Amino acid sequence: MFDDLRDLYQEVILDHGRKPRNFRRLEDADRSARGDNPMCGDRLELYLKLAPDGSIADAAFQGRGCAISTASASLMTETVKGKSAEQAHALSDRFRELAMTGTCPDCGADLAEEMERLQPLSGVHEFPSRVKCATLAWHTLNAALEGAKEASSE
Ligand code: ZN
Repeated sequence: MFDDLRDLYQEVILDHGRKPRNFRRLEDADRSARGDNPMCGDRLELYLKLAPDGSIADAAFQGRGCAISTASASLMTETVKGKSAEQAHALSDRFRELAMTGTCPDCGADLAEEMERLQPLSGVHEFPSRVKCATLAWHTLNAALEGAKEASSE
């Protein structure tokens, strides 16, 4: 990876880690789930507001965690807003692959723009212990969409 791209990615993670977007409780949430990554101590509560057609009208989170888990949750909530549950699951699968391998061969044409926004976290694949920090928000999203209350990175 080019150094300036690495710097840019680093900057995005630091920015979202320090000033997470959608960091609030959604009082009228239709779904919520708690995510726990005991390996690092990251914990978050995710809230989803669903539109009548089942798509994600709003997403927000609260919690405490390392910069990577916070940045990932921040980017996740920004990315899934307006998406159908099916698209959200697809993004979740692809993000997990991106975090574990650093690449996503079948990210294809659809959702390419969304995956581009998540690229800054691709560097975690070099640090296996941090992969769970990055995927926690997505595990929690899957749990919330499935109506489960808890998600663990284990
Ligand atoms: Zn962490």
